[in-house]
Amino acid sequence: MNRIMTKTDEYGVDFLDHQRQLLLEERTRQQHLAEGLQADVAELTAERDMSDTDVEDGFGEGAGMVVDRDRDQTLHATAMAALLEIEAALDRVESGTYGRCASCGEQIPSARLEAMPAATVCVTCKGGSLSRRRAAATTR
Ligand SMILES: [Zn+2]
Repeated sequence: MNRIMTKTDEYGVDFLDHQRQLLLEERTRQQHLAEGLQADVAELTAERDMSDTDVEDGFGEGAGMVVDRDRDQTLHATAMAALLEIEAALDRVESGTYGRCASCGEQIPSARLEAMPAATVCVTCKGGSLSRRRAAATTR
């Protein structure tokens, strides 16, 4: 069993497979979310543009729709940002750098990655002000 040491060797192949699955599922979810929101925004925009036509289902005022549209646009932007992070994380899985903190370069604990597969920084760097705990048990 001479496995070549890679940068993410500590996680193990099973873990990386698992994380890849999580990322792919999350990507699908976010894509659907983004598509749905984009469609909503387009619909709300179109409805507002046609505001002088008769609308049967109770839309009369434009203000509520603008609020809805702004909210949807914000959610859409959030979903797109999440997608970029997921894509970047998938790239890191492929390139063998997955799980490395983008800030301090330490390995991000697997428990955190399971909760947040697209995490780019460790809790210490993310938290910033959190008391910096040096892991007592260092890896061999
Ligand atoms: Zn860090």
